[in-house]
Amino acid sequence: MSAQRDQLQAQRRALIRQLSQLGPWIEGTLVSTARTCGKKRCVCMNKGPKHPVMYITNKEQGKTVSLYIPRKLEAEVSTWVKNYRKAKELIREISNVQKEIIRLREE
Ligand SMILES: [Zn+2]
Repeated sequence: MSAQRDQLQAQRRALIRQLSQLGPWIEGTLVSTARTCGKKRCVCMNKGPKHPVMYITNKEQGKTVSLYIPRKLEAEVSTWVKNYRKAKELIREISNVQKEIIRLREE
């Protein structure tokens, strides 16, 4: 039983380490769309292709809030969104290990 607990604690340490080594994260959904820029002479205002833009959206008190992502940050923000998903996964796994540890003590 103690060996099993040691194993679970080692597993927990490994998961916490992974979480601490994860880069920054951000909560939200990436949305890619296209928009016009407003310049009268631009192709986008003359039936040409619009400019691709990216937003990150979040639900805040039932409302969807969008935040524009500057072009230069798009790749980085995409990584942050992936990291958020990974962080959530790791937190859930750590939580499950904790439940296993509690169960061991019942025996
Ligand atoms: Zn334009």
